[in-house]
Amino acid sequence: MCGIFAVKGGYSNAMRNSGRVLLLWLVSVGSVLMNDRVYVMHALFSEIVRNGSVSRSQLSRTYGLRPATLVAVVERMKKQGFLQEPDRQGRHTGRRASDLMLNPKAGSFIGLELTPSRIYAVRMNAAGEEEKRQQIQLPAAASSKKICSLLLTVYQDLRLASGGGMLGFADPGAIDLKTGRTLQTVNLPAWEKVQVFDFFRNNTADQTPLLAPETLVRTYAEYLQCTPDFPETLFHARFSEGIGGGFINKGELLIGNRCSSMELGHLVLSPTGRRCRCGNRGCLEAMAGAAALRQMMQELVASGVSTRMEMNDFTLEHFVQMANENDRAAQVLAQETCERIGPVLAMVTTLLNPQIIVLSGELAGLGNLLLDAVKRAIALRCLNNAAETIKIKISTLDEFAGARTAALLRRNIFLEKALQLRPRLIPPLSAGMI
Ligand SMILES: [Zn+2]
Repeated sequence: MCGIFAVKGGYSNAMRNSGRVLLLWLVSVGSVLMNDRVYVMHALFSEIVRNGSVSRSQLSRTYGLRPATLVAVVERMKKQGFLQEPDRQGRHTGRRASDLMLNPKAGSFIGLELTPSRIYAVRMNAAGEEEKRQQIQLPAAASSKKICSLLLTVYQDLRLASGGGMLGFADPGAIDLKTGRTLQTVNLPAWEKVQVFDFFRNNTADQTPLLAPETLVRTYAEYLQCTPDFPETLFHARFSEGIGGGFINKGELLIGNRCSSMELGHLVLSPTGRRCRCGNRGCLEAMAGAAALRQMMQELVASGVSTRMEMNDFTLEHFVQMANENDRAAQVLAQETCERIGPVLAMVTTLLNPQIIVLSGELAGLGNLLLDAVKRAIALRCLNNAAETIKIKISTLDEFAGARTAALLRRNIFLEKALQLRPRLIPPLSAGMI
């Protein structure tokens, strides 16, 4: 009996053991397949959001994907309405596969950029195509309440036609991403200490709007513009009504502790220099910002230097145009300004060693005058022949790039959440997301 029991017990134990082994094997295969699927999803969507589209063969080659898993993931994503492959109807059409793209109908995204003088707004579909744009001028000395009401009007105008309403917002100054509240906004004082995140959450269809500083959003726009040859490191400096910067390292934006990094305009270069609107003296913005340039032009003209510019209508755009048309006073000041900017970008190069520096904003319209000054300063001040390896270029993006990219960043967060993508496609840079 014992023997029988032993045999029976032994048999039964063997069965139990082999069952356990089978179960473990299934779990492990399942886990491999699941990990495979997660890996394919991440590879697929990170390529598409960076490049706009990707081919199956390129994906397999770059990431060493198993064809069966790729086919399964792609078919599932197409069925769920996230992907499209315009020329391919089924798996076995015999035709060369077209590129995989996001389905434009997967979502509708509104991007708003607030600057000290204007609101730029766009509506984008999920494939990253712009469907509608609008811009409005801010009234002089507009209150935060007025600005909020204008932002909402533009949002509703763009939203009506599509019904969608996910929102990306590019903020003109620094914003505390832990609270969603704006910090100091030197060029738009009315926009300080505004609870932007709550405002949008309570007044739009989006419960998790994306908020990010405008210079970071535009830095990401410049990075996307480099497709398909993305640099390892990119520094972007913007010379507009205010001056700001942003840095990308291996696809990730440098955020800083409270999203207040890269306040390029408020680097103090001369502690006894002109008073800046931030309260300090000798900031770069007090030497090369719009308000400072206007004041310096007036001083030049008062001291007898000739100009064809009308001082009452001073705008940066006009100043740059006049400098390029050899207006005497505008040219003198433009030259001096470029000489002040050059050393600052040499400091940036010494600190960050970027592969590319992109210059944007109205002042970048000075073109070679600015490029040459920056190159000279880097050659003179930076070690290790930085000037020979660094690429410096003028941005080619238009004034809606900030709004467009804010919408795209919101779309990426939508995809991350809807598809449970890990790791995330973009670093956390929005209130409510960290
Ligand atoms: Zn300052």
